[in-house]
Amino acid sequence: MIKLSNVSKWYGNFQVLTDCTAHVHKGDVVVVCGPSGSGKSTLIKTVNGLEPFQKGEILVGGTSVGDKATDLAKLRSRVGMVFQHFELFPHLSIKENLTLAQIKVLGRKEDEAIKKGLAYLDRVGLSAHANKYPAELSGGQQQRVAIARALSMDPVAMLFDEPTSALDPEMIQEVLDVMVSLAKDGMTMMCVTHEMGFARQVANRIIFMDQGHVVENCSRDEFFAGARSERAKGFLSKIL
Ligand code: ATP
Ligand code: MG
Repeated sequence: MIKLSNVSKWYGNFQVLTDCTAHVHKGDVVVVCGPSGSGKSTLIKTVNGLEPFQKGEILVGGTSVGDKATDLAKLRSRVGMVFQHFELFPHLSIKENLTLAQIKVLGRKEDEAIKKGLAYLDRVGLSAHANKYPAELSGGQQQRVAIARALSMDPVAMLFDEPTSALDPEMIQEVLDVMVSLAKDGMTMMCVTHEMGFARQVANRIIFMDQGHVVENCSRDEFFAGARSERAKGFLSKIL
């Protein structure tokens, strides 16, 4: 489904990603973790073409992300992404946030888009809030709307970049619950997160990054039973 082969990226002279290789199969839940600045966000953004890379190859469902001929807008409509800061449009209602890209990017009719958007809003437990504006919702609720908005595009995979790290502790679980239920439904997911409870519960693979390298890429059980690298051990000892 998602295949990264020897991906390298530089910012000027600074190499931010070095030969990163990883496969995400259909239905996989891959957790990407590692210290701050190790390249997690950069890596995940290369997958849907938000960050260009200079070497290697990324295939998403057979489409080459780095190929100049690839329609990145189309690719992004098929790979949902949820960021740390819920990026809802503040001037649009929740319903409008849910339908805008469906109409503009996918060309869906308004009533079809509304039906789909409201179904996903219900799925994240927020159907009562369709006519509110983002500022009227809590951070956790906004993040759940962001997830519903991404799902409304019928993505083949979902990318998450620390979706809970900007939330107050009491709101983290409600977002994780939505992510767990998605994972259990078989959604293909690549999640940058330090929520190791989530990783233990639903991840089937863990990628540990350090200084732009994929240092560990193993099954969840292998990772928790005994991460091999000293860096991963040190990291785990701090967060568990
Ligand atoms: P965090 O856990 O803090 O989110 P991260 O693992 O997501 O960190 P990245 O944001 O991918 O790390 O950054 C990796 C490295 O690339 C860092 O050293 C960062 O300073 C550098 N970097 C990120 N964006 C840019 C940029 N636009 N220009 C130059 N350097 C950058
Ligand atoms: Mg990051």
